[in-house]
Amino acid sequence: MAFAMLNKPPLRVLIAAPRGFCAGVDRAIQIVELALERFGAPVYVRHEIVHNRFVVERLRDLGAIFVDELDEVPDDRPVVFSAHGVPKSVPAAAQERRLTYVDATCPLVSKVHRQAERLIEEGRHILFIGHAGHPEVIGTFGQVPAGSMTLVETVEDAATIQIPASATLAFLTQTTLSVDDTAAIVDALKARFPEIRAPRSEDICYATSNRQAAVKAIAPECDRMLVIGAPNSSNSLRLAEVAERIGVPARLIERAANIDWDWLPARLIERAANIDWDWLGEPKTLGLTAGASAPELLVREVVDALRERFDVTEEIADHSPERMIFKLPRELVA
Ligand code: SF4
Repeated sequence: MAFAMLNKPPLRVLIAAPRGFCAGVDRAIQIVELALERFGAPVYVRHEIVHNRFVVERLRDLGAIFVDELDEVPDDRPVVFSAHGVPKSVPAAAQERRLTYVDATCPLVSKVHRQAERLIEEGRHILFIGHAGHPEVIGTFGQVPAGSMTLVETVEDAATIQIPASATLAFLTQTTLSVDDTAAIVDALKARFPEIRAPRSEDICYATSNRQAAVKAIAPECDRMLVIGAPNSSNSLRLAEVAERIGVPARLIERAANIDWDWLPARLIERAANIDWDWLGEPKTLGLTAGASAPELLVREVVDALRERFDVTEEIADHSPERMIFKLPRELVA
């Protein structure tokens, strides 16, 4: 039964823009849908195509089967690789088995892969700024020979990591990092290794940067911030951090089994059912945004849930729209 209240308290909901799906996520979802049309069900998908349970469950309903490893895919069925990218060994193993495969790696992640290859060809050792265990990091490390890339997660790492004395260095970054944290790590690396080669252009992708900037723009007006995103979604976690650092009270609701989320006091929700109403209280202005893998439908669901308890005035923050579109793989559109 729907929750109903008389004399609902007023609530201004300030919705960040841009938010939600980026071009890479949109493309990856379309790839699975087109693969299902082209090959019929089931189509196998190695790892969550994007980090959003709602998206994964919808594709599962359409006939996608999500697996952790390639050896779970039968010889006669196609497989799609996720937007986060895969180590080179994965397509190589698929080719060896003569599997039909479609790579949904975001073109901006592929760009980092190509940069890594080039740097190794030049004989450089790469310092890679990223989060240990994230699929994108595993995929990027899998583009280069073992030992030729070192992970740097923090400013402390930048000051203490050991690298071969004769190494000529370059750095690259994961695409979904905190813009501010990464700048501090890069400064620390440049201070310690003045000769280090920087990438020609920013590796943190446009969608990550734009969503963080949009949260920064609205946070000063907000009493609380809700970020719609899965707890394993790097770019969503960064949005919650940005809000928290500006001083907008927030807490975390979802816990992933193998990650200590306690360090992050931000409120991240996957959908309206996850809102902790006691925590929310009665803010005057609530900020609302969504990570790059969260569909707009979930934003609407949250606003609808808020309307059941508050007299909501909705405002979309004014921000330049995104027009990025990535081409689909030829084999699916030809
Ligand atoms: S967040 Fe950035 S790198 Fe990741 S899929 Fe979206 S556009 Fe690509």
